Amino acid sequence: MSIEKTDAIVLKTVDFMESSLVLTVYTRDLGKVRGLAKGARRLKNPFETSLDLLASIKLTFIKKNSDALDLFTEAKLARRFRPNRRNLRGLYAGYYVAELLDSMTEDYDPDSELWRLTDLTLASLAKRGRVGSRIFAFEAFLLDAFGEFPSVRNCVECGQELPLDRVDNLERKIWFENDRGGVVCRDCLAKKRTLGLVPTTIGALKALESARDAARNMLLYNVGGSV
Ligand SMILES: [Zn+2]
Repeated sequence: MSIEKTDAIVLKTVDFMESSLVLTVYTRDLGKVRGLAKGARRLKNPFETSLDLLASIKLTFIKKNSDALDLFTEAKLARRFRPNRRNLRGLYAGYYVAELLDSMTEDYDPDSELWRLTDLTLASLAKRGRVGSRIFAFEAFLLDAFGEFPSVRNCVECGQELPLDRVDNLERKIWFENDRGGVVCRDCLAKKRTLGLVPTTIGALKALESARDAARNMLLYNVGGSV
């Protein structure tokens, strides 16, 4: 057992027994953690009503060495996720971010940049503004973080670099190999024909890159809502 203190974002809460909660949180230092918050639903508790869905908190917990749930002992609220009542799209987008993070990450696999991007994304979703581009940036960054970002500049068959920046026509068609997750050059296309390939455009590939870069910029400049 060890006592841990870290920043965390609440991804899921489930009522447990009469007065407790089982929580899934994404922490800055330890990745995804599941734990029991005893008495969290009592009027007086050591969590100061901070354990709302998507709240950003400062968490103290006892990490168990066994398979048993960790024990959350204290939490202080850093920021509640509370979009304006008329900002329903921002609210649902926040729920989507939580589900995506929960389903794509493993327990105790930390990524402090991903934690920070999640925090910034939620802060920006709580404000009014364009939701789609923020979610797209988050998704693109996730793909990159897990090594699943498509190869958009180099042919997945031969590695040859495609002259994406020398083509002005963004509508120009380019072939994409889904199974291998990337583009295919003309030479390889001649050998493969279009078996297992789907057409896309240079503009679509560049939009994907732009989304990932927008997320990186959010991290670089430490601001949400700028994409
Ligand atoms: Zn090739």
